[in-house]
Amino acid sequence: MRWLVGFTACVCAAQTLPLDWQAAVNQVSADSLKGHVSFLASDLLEGRMTPSRGLDLAAEYLASQFRRYGLEAAGNRGYFHETAWKVHVPDLSGFAMELVIDGKPYPIPAGEVTVISPRGFQYSSEPVVTGTGDIAGKVVFARGPAAAQRRTAALAIIPDPNGRAYSMLSGARPFQNKPDASRAPVILVHSNTLPEKAEEIKLTLRLAEPREQPMVMRNVAAIVRGSDPDLSRSYIVAAAHYDHIGRLRHSGRGDRLFNGANDDASGTAALLEIAERIARMPQKPARSILFLATSGEEQGLLGTRAFLSQPPVPLESIAANVCFEVLGRTDMDGGLHEGKLTVTGIDFTSMGQVFIDSGKATGIEVYKHPQNEAFYNRSDNIAFAQRGIPAHTVSNAFIYPDYHGVRDEWDRLNYPNMARLIRTITAALLQIANDREAPRWAEIPATSRYRGVTRGQASSTP
Ligand SMILES: [Zn+2]
Repeated sequence: MRWLVGFTACVCAAQTLPLDWQAAVNQVSADSLKGHVSFLASDLLEGRMTPSRGLDLAAEYLASQFRRYGLEAAGNRGYFHETAWKVHVPDLSGFAMELVIDGKPYPIPAGEVTVISPRGFQYSSEPVVTGTGDIAGKVVFARGPAAAQRRTAALAIIPDPNGRAYSMLSGARPFQNKPDASRAPVILVHSNTLPEKAEEIKLTLRLAEPREQPMVMRNVAAIVRGSDPDLSRSYIVAAAHYDHIGRLRHSGRGDRLFNGANDDASGTAALLEIAERIARMPQKPARSILFLATSGEEQGLLGTRAFLSQPPVPLESIAANVCFEVLGRTDMDGGLHEGKLTVTGIDFTSMGQVFIDSGKATGIEVYKHPQNEAFYNRSDNIAFAQRGIPAHTVSNAFIYPDYHGVRDEWDRLNYPNMARLIRTITAALLQIANDREAPRWAEIPATSRYRGVTRGQASSTP
């Protein structure tokens, strides 16, 4: 592994990669990425809800790709890592909902709603008005009696054709100052009978507690075995979630599928592409790399939690985790994000600098996002960090116009730019997997809650 020293020197001086790394990185193909994303985000897969047939089709595709690269299976059923699990599904028995718009009642039957966040909510006697003007894209907010306000918020959303109200809600979180809206049931309303404009909208709602449904939580996992006799027993987990939020349940017209092209077919495609490039290298990295496609991320990192609860390799042997999320759009965070990559919690571990150096060697600016720390909690990496494992998520930016909207489609991604970013990520992973020293947490206050955890033990939720 002497040439690693060379790499470090090269980054500072000539900013070039070792020849065999460069060869692997050069093979990253925009067309290959487009192929993966266009299948994973196709209408056939119906938004890859956990659980669903579309998600199962995606899992089968991922396994077939891993098989094609000749990877070692790391699941308990071939490439499938399966765990008996439970999910919460909406219970619409006894559902009652009414919007009162400028004094006129509009009953909303269960067939005209999609319950996104299935939490129970009782009839609200004190509805709160937020919608005025055009009602499309409006969020109507309700809360229960004052004493219990923090626990009894509900949100009804009247989406515009892009589903943008939902996007706004999940992305920018404009309702944080309202009573505990993050724990509220969220209901999309699709009714053809509502007026187009309103001065005042009130909401009353009765929604049962969700039902628990047993399911098989299925991740897809494969290993590129390390080449160093000792370090090959140490794993870098490269991960991306292959699930998304499914489809709208109502029976109206229009696009009802959340295709999840950027979130996170883009990261899943990155996972596949990087796995193939590293699998085909004549000299494998010193450490082993475990490629993990997770399910259930959108419902609270369920697949990753299942993986960590029954890991295929000892948790103490996992040296680091890097997740790939949201890599395909360049119209992000209100600007044009080309040739740029960001790492959540970039100061938190020694890996941040590796990404910055790899960016220099591959012509990508690796920058610190203004919401660098806030987004550390928003992806699968946090579940690894809570087990004491140094972890990050890499993205090119965070919020894009169709985030969790029905127009997050595969033909809106910038594949040549995505390929450039994935070259940087591949180079960084090669550096991390070849370094004799495992990644370390930075000794800063923000990491104390992760540093204090014995590797493998779960810490409390931050
Ligand atoms: Zn995501």
